[in-house]
Amino acid sequence: MQHEIWFNGKLIPFEKATVHVLAHVVHYGSSVFEGIRCYRTERGSGVFRLREHLQRLVDSGKIHRMQIPYSIDELEAATVETIVNAGLRSCYIRPVAFRGVGPMGVNPLENPVETFIAVWEWGAYLGSEALENGVDVQVASWHRMAPNTHPSLAKAGGNYLNASLVKMDAVLNGFDEGIMLSVDGYVAEGSGENLFLIRDGVIYTPPTSVSILPGITRDSVITLAREQGLRIEERMITREALYVADELFFTGTAAEITPIRSVDHHPIGEGRRGPITAALQAAFFDVVRRGEDPHGWLTPVPVRETANSAA
Ligand code: PMP
Repeated sequence: MQHEIWFNGKLIPFEKATVHVLAHVVHYGSSVFEGIRCYRTERGSGVFRLREHLQRLVDSGKIHRMQIPYSIDELEAATVETIVNAGLRSCYIRPVAFRGVGPMGVNPLENPVETFIAVWEWGAYLGSEALENGVDVQVASWHRMAPNTHPSLAKAGGNYLNASLVKMDAVLNGFDEGIMLSVDGYVAEGSGENLFLIRDGVIYTPPTSVSILPGITRDSVITLAREQGLRIEERMITREALYVADELFFTGTAAEITPIRSVDHHPIGEGRRGPITAALQAAFFDVVRRGEDPHGWLTPVPVRETANSAA
């Protein structure tokens, strides 16, 4: 269903939310964006870590000298308004700020910053049985960008040309996803997911210095793992460490916590979801499905009763 979109301060019909062909973003990829989920929990609907996502959006804009003309409070209220207006109880949320029409050329400083928030219903990104059975991945031939090229702490539209190359190759080669190595050859992340590795009961994840996106699910999993008394370390990971891992999993707003069952046709562990992955998934789903929220990670979304508010 095509829901109304919040565009530059107000909700407008889906068909009216358009961008001019001469907007800077169309030519130069000059957008920053977020992917956020609203969950329908047993205790009502809630947006997962909304303020952290909006803070990352503002930070992404700052890195690219793009001042988003709304405060985090305003963006938070606009997000909730957009979901309630759509009558959705669970959805994916896509806030975007981009450079619009202005002087033509690479320099974006005089182009206006436009902001929109769209919502839609979305299931498990890598397939619903992937959460249980895991996914098959390859190490990508395309690397993550060097830290002095595209800043990886910014979730910027242009960065996803790199991610798309990785994803297309993976799918065309019969895999679900690709894992990128850093410019130095260390494990970085998936095209849209952070990565965790487990060996001998210790959990490892690459540090942000290997040009990964600082994932909010990644941060949540680090917190949940520590709370379970698990040892977790940010550490450089080599490619071959993937092959001999006991368990591997991806994290991301879209992917949630998805086990990886093979890399480059090497089965990982027993070739299915391992026990630590399952325990972390259970802790994560206690928050987003059962609505148990000791960390204050869920922003409540009031229900608007309509005939089609079942989602
Ligand atoms: N890395 C990349 C490249 C991504 O696009 C995403 C998805 N936003 C992630 C990691 C995971 O981040 P998050 O948990 O904040 O969704």
